Amino acid sequence: MKLKRLILAGGGHAHVEVLRAFGAKPVSEVDVTLVTPETDAAYSGMLPGLVAGHYSWREAHIDLTALVRYAGARIKSTRIVGINPGERQVLCADRRVLDYDVLSLDIGSTPPLDDVEGASQHGVGVKPVESFLEVWDALCAEARERALRVAVVGGGAGGVELCLAMRHRLRQESGVAAQTDFTLVTQGTAIVPEHPVSVRHRLERALARNGVGLLAGLRVVRVEADGLTLDGGARVPADCVVWATGAAAPEWLARSGLALDERGFVLVDEMLRSTSHPDVFAAGDVATMHEHPRPKSGVFAVRQGPPLAENLRLALTGDPLKRFRPQRRALSLISTGRRHAVAAWGGVSFQGWWVWRWKNSIDRKFMARYVVGTK
Ligand SMILES: Cc1cc2nc3c(=O)[nH]c(=O)nc-3n(C[C@H](O)[C@H](O)[C@H](O)COP(=O)(O)OP(=O)(O)OC[C@H]3O[C@@H](n4cnc5c(N)ncnc54)[C@H](O)[C@@H]3O)c2cc1C
Repeated sequence: MKLKRLILAGGGHAHVEVLRAFGAKPVSEVDVTLVTPETDAAYSGMLPGLVAGHYSWREAHIDLTALVRYAGARIKSTRIVGINPGERQVLCADRRVLDYDVLSLDIGSTPPLDDVEGASQHGVGVKPVESFLEVWDALCAEARERALRVAVVGGGAGGVELCLAMRHRLRQESGVAAQTDFTLVTQGTAIVPEHPVSVRHRLERALARNGVGLLAGLRVVRVEADGLTLDGGARVPADCVVWATGAAAPEWLARSGLALDERGFVLVDEMLRSTSHPDVFAAGDVATMHEHPRPKSGVFAVRQGPPLAENLRLALTGDPLKRFRPQRRALSLISTGRRHAVAAWGGVSFQGWWVWRWKNSIDRKFMARYVVGTK
C-alpha cells in the first residue's frame, strides 16, 4: 500500500499538538514531514516573560526536533514560499519541491511592516520571533553602554505587554533603567481597544507607573534610522523602533490559488479545511474560520490543535471529518513587566501578583505537554 504524505508547514501552536497526538497514537501508512525554518518553536504566552527575563530561552521554546522524533516524522529545515495545489506540491525556500496528499498550514502571521514607509528597513517586527530576540539581545547590550530611546508601535495587548516587558528587563540591568526612554505609539484613540475600559485603565496606569510615554490617536507615516514621523509631521526620536501592530498574512498566499479572506488569510470551514481545496488544512493566525472568525491569538491557535490533529488523521484514513466550533471568547492574561498581570474575561477584569502566578502555571503546564521522551 502506498504511503500517504502529510506535510505540516510551520511549527506553530496547533502543529505541536498534531505532532504530540500523532506520537501518542500513531497513524499507520503515513509519512509525516514538518517543514520549519526553526528547530525550536517560541510559545507566544511566554514571549513577554522571556523578554522581561522571567524565563530562559529554553523554557519559552518547544523542541521541535524531539517532538518530530516522538511523532515518527521527519523535519525539513526550510520555509515554504509557495504552493501549487493543483499538483499537490509545496515550494521551499531551498528550491526543494515536496509532494503531498494532505497539507496543513500553521505558519502564523507577521506585523504588517510593509504598510509604512521605512518600517521594514529601520524597524523590527515582533515576528519572526527569533529575529526580534536577536535585536533585543543586542539592544540590551547597547543599553548598558549608552542612553537609548525605544519606540513601540502598536497599542494592542501584544504591544503593551511587550513594551512593559522590555522596560522591566532594562530596569533590572544595573544602571540602565534611568537612561532608557520608552514611548508607545498607537493609531487608535486608546490602547487595547479589543478589551473593556477597565483593562485599558489598568494598563494605562501600568504604563504611567513605568514611565512609558503614551501617544494615542497618532498614525506613524514614516520610520527613519533615528526615529518616527507621525501624521501631522511631529517626530519621535528613537534608536530602536519595535513594530507590534497586529497580524498580516504571508504575501505568497495571494498567488497560491487558495480561497482567502479579505486580509489574505486562508479561509477554512468548520473542519479547519480550506474552503477551496479539501486536501489543504490551516490553523492558527494564518487561517480564518469562515463561519466563526476569531481574533488572531495564540489561545485560539492552541484550541485548534486537537481538532486539527483529529481531522488530519481522519482525512488520511479517508473517514468523515468532524466539525469544530471555537469558543466565543477567551480569557486574556496580560503581564505588566513585573511578575504581575491583568486578567480580562468578557466585561470583567482583575489584576495582581496572583494573576501572574496563575498565568505562569497555565503556561508551564502547556509547555510540559510538549516535553516528550524518545520512542
Ligand atoms: C508580543 C506578543 C505577545 C503575544 N502574547 C500573546 C499571549 O499572551 N496570548 C495569546 O494568545 N497570544 C499572544 N500573542 C499572539 C500570538 O503570538 C499568535 O496569535 C500565535 O503565535 C499564533 O500562533 P500560530 O500557531 O498561528 O503561529 P506561530 O506561533 O507564529 O508559529 C508559526 C511558525 O511557523 C513558522 N513559519 C513561518 N513562516 C513559515 C513558512 N513560510 N514555512 C514554514 N514555517 C514557517 C514560524 O517560524 C513559526 O515557528 C502575542 C503576540 C505578540 C506579538
